[in-house]
Amino acid sequence: MQNTRSVKVGSVIMGGGFPVSVQTMWKEKLAAVDDEVIARIGRLEALGCDVLRFAVPDLEAAETLGGLAARVPMPLVADIHFDWRIALRCLDFPIAKIRINPGNIGARWKVEELLTKARDRGVPIRIGVNAGSLPEDLRARPDRAAAIVEAAERELAVFEDFGFGEVVVSMKASDVPTTLEVNRLFAERHDYPLHLGVTEAGPLIAGVVKNTAALVPLLREGLGATIRVSLSDSMESEVLAAREILSCAGLARPGISIVSCPRCGRASFDTHAFTARWAERLYSLGKTATVAVMGCVVNGPGEARHADLGITGAGDKVVIFRRGEIVRTIDPKDADTVFAEELEKLE
Ligand code: SF4
Repeated sequence: MQNTRSVKVGSVIMGGGFPVSVQTMWKEKLAAVDDEVIARIGRLEALGCDVLRFAVPDLEAAETLGGLAARVPMPLVADIHFDWRIALRCLDFPIAKIRINPGNIGARWKVEELLTKARDRGVPIRIGVNAGSLPEDLRARPDRAAAIVEAAERELAVFEDFGFGEVVVSMKASDVPTTLEVNRLFAERHDYPLHLGVTEAGPLIAGVVKNTAALVPLLREGLGATIRVSLSDSMESEVLAAREILSCAGLARPGISIVSCPRCGRASFDTHAFTARWAERLYSLGKTATVAVMGCVVNGPGEARHADLGITGAGDKVVIFRRGEIVRTIDPKDADTVFAEELEKLE
């Protein structure tokens, strides 16, 4: 693992050898803080989300986010562009981190005013550089990765001049090779914790594939303190994708791992529907186990013999098995109820 400095983001520590954290971003305008919002954040946390970011486009949004931050334990990040006064206002609340693209904050004194208040409040800042919004003089550079890193370094120079070191850096592009290159290049020169992700990665399948292709090698090289899988899909999908990416990189967290068959002409049990019904509940369980969902007995218990708990079609019956051994044979209409009972018994 890259030896970076550590930065405290509320209850989460980024870098310094601490576990790679997972984050996502709230997808709608946060109009109000109500029980539904609180409950959804609770569900995201159960799925494995560690940090949650919100766009804060105006002072009203800063007030709303401030109210939310006082009500939830999860570290919340305020994402601000253009108007440093919004960031200043956010710092009046228990916001865990500010994300800015300093290049669009404007005059240096504004950035310094922000750094002064952030330092006083002990709040770190993420410098987030996006390939799509580079300073004008860097846009035409043929070496795009070097240009992105230089954009980050220019901003870092302002922070370093000011003696502000509580910084996380992200440099995002929408393609895999540039994402790999910028992060490797930056990590050779600096010890700031990196926030990894492919930006504007696309809809679910394309986005997951691109993020996996970029993030798994970087994580395996020890780079990355926190990840966000940007998808044109739900926050829940982003969190689950991040979990799987960590697992692929050898950084699996405790939790349920699902093995499910793709289904074929032999299936007598609808693995797709069952998995869709159960996935979120399984991933939210505070247990570590492998659960198999198989379509038939031809390959079911055998293929999933390492699963702690499994369910499979068996002719006109459904079979529940534990580590390859059949423990119950039931009517399909009872599948959910019996599966829930057996799940309860998992240690
Ligand atoms: S477990 Fe059975 S239904 Fe599923 S893919 Fe294998 S053979 Fe087909």
